[in-house]
Amino acid sequence: MILYWHRRDLRGTDNRGLARAVSLSADPVVPVFVFDPIILEHASPVRVACLLEALEGLREWYRERGSDLLVARGEASDVLPRLAAEHDIDAVVWAEDYSGLARERDRAVTAALEDDGVACETVHDAIHHEPGSITPNEGDHYSVFSYFWKKWRDREKREPVEPPAADALADVMGEPLPSRSELGFDEPTATPQSVTQAAARERVTEFCSEPIYRYADDRDKPAIDGTSRLSPHLKWGTIGIREVYEATERAAERAETDDDRESVTAFQRQLAWREFYAHVLAFNPETVTENFSGYEHAIPWRNDPDELEAWKAGETGYPIVDAGMRQLRSEGWMHNRVRMLVASFLTKDLLIDWREGYDWFRRNLADHETANDVGGWQWAGSTGTDAQPYFRVFNPVKQGREYDPNADYIREYVPELEAVPADTIHDWPALESDRRVTLAPSYPAPIVDHGERRERAIAAFEQARGE
Ligand SMILES: Cc1cc2nc3c(=O)[nH]c(=O)nc-3n(C[C@H](O)[C@H](O)[C@H](O)COP(=O)(O)OP(=O)(O)OC[C@H]3O[C@@H](n4cnc5c(N)ncnc54)[C@H](O)[C@@H]3O)c2cc1C
Repeated sequence: MILYWHRRDLRGTDNRGLARAVSLSADPVVPVFVFDPIILEHASPVRVACLLEALEGLREWYRERGSDLLVARGEASDVLPRLAAEHDIDAVVWAEDYSGLARERDRAVTAALEDDGVACETVHDAIHHEPGSITPNEGDHYSVFSYFWKKWRDREKREPVEPPAADALADVMGEPLPSRSELGFDEPTATPQSVTQAAARERVTEFCSEPIYRYADDRDKPAIDGTSRLSPHLKWGTIGIREVYEATERAAERAETDDDRESVTAFQRQLAWREFYAHVLAFNPETVTENFSGYEHAIPWRNDPDELEAWKAGETGYPIVDAGMRQLRSEGWMHNRVRMLVASFLTKDLLIDWREGYDWFRRNLADHETANDVGGWQWAGSTGTDAQPYFRVFNPVKQGREYDPNADYIREYVPELEAVPADTIHDWPALESDRRVTLAPSYPAPIVDHGERRERAIAAFEQARGE
């Protein structure tokens, strides 16, 4: 028999790993998920809530087909050999995960299974083009996205994979899933969007029917639901990337204008960023904690604890920054434009190490994905590959005016400013303090002066670069 080990691919359809497991033998496949303490150590309440919801959905999917998802607790390198012996397993199949921690775990699992004479097979599933498959003339991965994108875009994509037939799945019965508290996690402060296979498919269908044609225009406006919100699904694998891509290709075929078609391409480009960062991380696993660029230890981070707390709480007195930080806390998600802004504010205006911000995002994002999160933080902190130049510091007032002109997004998450006119909201840091107190007594004054902090950040980076 074959054991299929689900990890971050919590679905039955368009699952290359599961399809491979089914193709290996005429015997039915036994599906399993392992709650591994080594991995859970890096989890958080909101992500465990998403994981359990996705697993519940996956279990239901198997039960509708007369099978079940086995669940086990313990280190995967102990649990899988035990399950393999219990179910008389010849081979264990799983889909590759490219982070350093995952690869370390997978090496331990492979060694333990092979010691017991059980074969291991892995497939590439999470991204279209695996690390090492798109390379520059010299080196193992691209460091500049635009070059990567050109090759990624032109490369043929795989078709979605059919789900296995019901009789290819073993008639097993699993234990109930552990609860969040049994796994040792508190109730999350955020209520994240639903993360199931059905919700993912609904989201793709809806997004590709119409909003995708406005994506190029709307994607930077946080008050509009103009992006796909697929990130939690891609993180947990409740939808396959081939299925997503195919839906975008169908949308491109239905496009009526060049603008529509270009908008679809703009969306596909973002899918390519996800793969670019997966490649960067696969070949540079140390960048989870170290700067990608040379100036490790040279940047004089200040790490003021009060300023860090104000940033986390959404109490900086910069309305768009605070709106983003509060969206994160309440939904476990934040709009991309605002992620860039709050990350710039932390690393430049506050001169706080990007690792502090990464750690907060890691704990609070439902879609936290190591490659994208590290990539995003090192981009904003100007320490990454193809990063924001250190001298281009986002102005949170201008950005608020440009991308949330009516302050609808700000008012949604900062209710203290609900009755304040949009222009005055954007002017908030420059208002006289008496005026601020009259308008919104419970909303804070700006904790820093952006102009001064911008100069300070540029000087600090120049010093770190030896200029
Ligand atoms: C500081 C910072 C931290 C981030 N952390 C994460 C993270 O932990 N997980 C995560 O998935 N994304 C992260 N991003 C990237 C981006 O903000 C989110 O992918 C996006 O906001 C998710 O919303 P969406 O699905 O509606 O995106 P859409 O705009 O609809 O994009 C579709 C998909 O493309 C991918 N994508 C889009 N933008 C990016 C990007 N800049 N980099 C990599 N992939 C991208 C995502 O998979 C996304 O779901 C981060 C960005 C920054 C600046």
